[in-house]
Amino acid sequence: MKNFFDLSFEELEELLAGLDPRPFRTAQVLRWVYTLGADDFRNMTDMPVSMRESLAGLCDLMPLREIERSETRDQTVKFLHILEDGEMIESVLIPEDGHNTLCISTQSGCNMSCAFCETGRNPGGRNLTTGEILAQIVYAIRHSGDRLNVRNLVFMGMGEPLLNLESLQPALEVILSDRGLNFSPRRVTVSTCGWVPGIIRLATEGPDVNLAVSLNATDDKTRSKIMPVNRQYPIGSLMDAVGRFPLKARSRITFEYVLIEGVNDTQEDVLRLQKLLKGLPAKVNLIPCNENFSGFRAPSEEKARAFQDSLYDYGVLATMRKSRGQEIGAACGQLKAGSARKQHD
Ligand code: SF4
Repeated sequence: MKNFFDLSFEELEELLAGLDPRPFRTAQVLRWVYTLGADDFRNMTDMPVSMRESLAGLCDLMPLREIERSETRDQTVKFLHILEDGEMIESVLIPEDGHNTLCISTQSGCNMSCAFCETGRNPGGRNLTTGEILAQIVYAIRHSGDRLNVRNLVFMGMGEPLLNLESLQPALEVILSDRGLNFSPRRVTVSTCGWVPGIIRLATEGPDVNLAVSLNATDDKTRSKIMPVNRQYPIGSLMDAVGRFPLKARSRITFEYVLIEGVNDTQEDVLRLQKLLKGLPAKVNLIPCNENFSGFRAPSEEKARAFQDSLYDYGVLATMRKSRGQEIGAACGQLKAGSARKQHD
C-alpha cells in the first residue's frame, strides 16, 4: 500500500480523479489529513462510503509504527518509529514557552561521523522518503491534538538534511503550503553540518526557510577533528556559501556551537568566532555538550557563561540552549535509533 504522504498534491488529484472527478475532493481529503489530523479514511464523514473504502485500500495514513515512546519530567517526548523495511528513526517533541518544537529526522542513520554525535556513530541507514519525513510531523501533530500545538519544525534529528534534498524539498512544499501543513517559513529551520553543495542548492532552488549551521569549532584543524565534513569543505568555503544564502529582512543564520571542554571553549575561540561572523546577520546558539559515548564534556557553567558574555562584548548575539531530553537520550547529538535497530535485528 502507498504511503499517503509520498503523494504530491498533483498525484493525489490524479488518484482521486479516478474515484470521483469533482475537483473539490482533493481539498476535502487534504483538509481531513493535514488540518484535522485524520488517521483513517473511513472517518471522513463528508465523503461517500465507497470512496472512503477505496482510499483505505489504496493509501496508508499511518505509515510509521511507533515502537517506543519516552517522556521526561519536562515533557519532552521522544518517538522511536519503525519503517516498512525495518529501519528505525526518532523524532523529538520539545515543549517551550507554551508551544512545541518538533525535531525531525531525514535519514535513518548518518555517515557524517561527527565525533560528538550518537547518530554518526552508527553509519548506514538510508535517506527517508518525502512521505516518511512528513509522517513524523503528522504523527506529532496527532499526538499533541492540534496542528497549532506544534509551532516550530527543526530538521536537526537523525541525518544530514542537505544530503537528502530530493525528499526534503517536496516535503517542505507540503509543510509550507496552505493546502498542506501551512507552516510559516519563519518557523521552519534546516540544520546542516556544513554540506556546502546542499547549502548552495537550497539557496538557489529554495524553498525559503531558515538555515542553521552546526559550526562547533573556529579553526580547520579542530573542526576537521570533530567534524570530518570539514576536510572536504573547510570553514572558508562554508562561510562563503553561508554568506550567499538569501535572507529575508530581519532574519539571521543560526550557528550551532556545541561547547566542549578543552576543545573549542577558549577566549581565542571567541575571538576567531566573532571574526568569522563579522558582517553576517548571525546568531550563535551555544549548546553545552551532552554526556554520551564520546567522552566529551561541557565546560563548567561559569566558563560557558563567560564564553557567551565575551561574544556579547563583541556584539555577537549568543543564546545558551537549555538541554532538553537528556535523561531519555533525546537531546542534541543523542539520537541513536541506529543502535536500537541493531538490538531489534
Ligand atoms: S551531528 Fe548531524 S551530521 Fe553530524 S553525525 Fe550527527 S546526525 Fe550526522
